[in-house]
Amino acid sequence: MGKVTGFLEVERHDRKYTPVVERIKHYNEFVIPLTEKEVRDQAARCMNCGIPYCHGTGSVAPGTPGCPVNNQIPDWNDLVYQGNWEEAARNLHSTNNFPEFTGRICPAPCEASCTLNIDDNPVTIKTIECAIVDRAWESGWIKPELPAVKTGKKVAVIGSGPAGLACAQQLARAGHEVHVFEKYAKAGGLLRYGIPDFKMEKHYIDRRIVQMEGEGVVFHYGAHVGGSGDGAVDPRAMLNDYDALALTGGAEAPRDLPIPGRDLAGIHYAMDFLPQQNRRVGKEPVTGTDIFATDKHVVVIGGGDTGSDCIGTSFRQGAKSVTQLEIMPAPPERENKGLTWPNWPLKMRTSSSQAEGAARDYAVLTQSFSGTEGKVAKLHCVRVDDKFKPVPGTEFELEAELILLAMGFVHPVHEGLLKLLGVELDQRGNVRANTSDYQTSRPNVFSAGDMRRGQSLVVWAIREGRLCAQAIDRFLTGRTDLPR
Ligand SMILES: Cc1cc2nc3c(=O)[nH]c(=O)nc-3n(C[C@H](O)[C@H](O)[C@H](O)COP(=O)(O)OP(=O)(O)OC[C@H]3O[C@@H](n4cnc5c(N)ncnc54)[C@H](O)[C@@H]3O)c2cc1C
Ligand code: SF4
Repeated sequence: MGKVTGFLEVERHDRKYTPVVERIKHYNEFVIPLTEKEVRDQAARCMNCGIPYCHGTGSVAPGTPGCPVNNQIPDWNDLVYQGNWEEAARNLHSTNNFPEFTGRICPAPCEASCTLNIDDNPVTIKTIECAIVDRAWESGWIKPELPAVKTGKKVAVIGSGPAGLACAQQLARAGHEVHVFEKYAKAGGLLRYGIPDFKMEKHYIDRRIVQMEGEGVVFHYGAHVGGSGDGAVDPRAMLNDYDALALTGGAEAPRDLPIPGRDLAGIHYAMDFLPQQNRRVGKEPVTGTDIFATDKHVVVIGGGDTGSDCIGTSFRQGAKSVTQLEIMPAPPERENKGLTWPNWPLKMRTSSSQAEGAARDYAVLTQSFSGTEGKVAKLHCVRVDDKFKPVPGTEFELEAELILLAMGFVHPVHEGLLKLLGVELDQRGNVRANTSDYQTSRPNVFSAGDMRRGQSLVVWAIREGRLCAQAIDRFLTGRTDLPR
């Protein structure tokens, strides 16, 4: 373990952010890394628990405690404390293809499960993870890992989000010829086009793509499988051209708010707004009419990560005000540890974007939008009780010239790819495939990530991509040596 008495001697000390007034002037990351000594001191706090809940249970069910990819957290905490960063990096990569992504944007269920979280002072696991992988890149320890033998089998991975990338990397390392098909101009999925640069800069994706190309993965961009027009690829032809297909296209159908006034100009899905700004930062052409929050009162409907990203982007564009509405009641300030630990607790959290000055209101239902000359100007809202029923007499109005719908995603897009392949869907409209073989209703077609499990987290997408690669490897060769 780290230092036997470390948790008694060292206080939890985590990365800080640059001040709001500074950081909203740009789209770069604003987290200030700890020094090497500070990271080692933090790693020294790890107690190497008999049952390290941080490490996860190995279950793939949502809501299970600890790390979804089963990072060997106590082991690399000790390695960092000992100063053996290179071995820590090797250990970290044995369970996680892309720790520089999770080290930046994971909500860190590991920290919620840490024994030291019983009194609110968990080990700074995410910060230590990020420090290990950043050092590994700086030191040149991360290189293409080439397979000893090639299998002669060909796999097409459709979708280059974290699930597709993890799946492709694992399959290439098992010796298969892997082709990734991505409808957009660059790889990364929501990592690139959803999550803003101020949460994760995109050069981290680019250098992983270089590593993967070095491992033999071939990327086909602007290739819309099951789409129409330039770059369209017919998935039925792929069934003949490839030995197996992995469907990792995400859950891209947004939840709508079909209420009176919805057709007014100025009401947009979050994912019409956020990718535009990411493309501007990435110097890619912006598609569709420009949507800007500049000099507007903005209302974001929906309280999750996507809503927070809309807030931070709006402030950087110069919004006059940003208000976030949530239909759920306000969660408790502090969880009841006796009831929740080591599980992920429902409690009040303030994201860095919310802390930039957003007003937040809970238990609010928007009943209609109104405006003049076809443009939205107001939301008409009401407060709801704990059964989401409107409370009479609590109606109120909010002014807004830009309204962003961030209420999540219902399932993957069915038109095109999924309909053409004819794969079965589950009750929620996701691709039906279980977590033991990731196989769809077509034997040589597999699925992982948000397309299979519904909207989730980057860390779950990585986990599923890895397990899906294992399943495909076993399907193609009768066995697999790929790690989980
Ligand atoms: C705005 C936003 C912020 C988020 N923030 C966080 C966060 O901070 N932390 C976190 O853990 N999670 C976050 N998430 C969730 C996380 O991004 C997703 O769970 C994760 O990216 C899912 O990975 P995936 O690979 O399954 O799908 P995606 O990332 O959605 O990737 C799917 C890819 O497939 C491509 N594709 C789809 N259909 C086709 C087709 N027919 N042909 C070719 N290509 C296709 C898409 O273009 C896309 O590139 C956020 C989500 C959003 C929307
Ligand atoms: S639960 Fe916390 S203290 Fe225990 S092994 Fe994991 S990181 Fe270390």
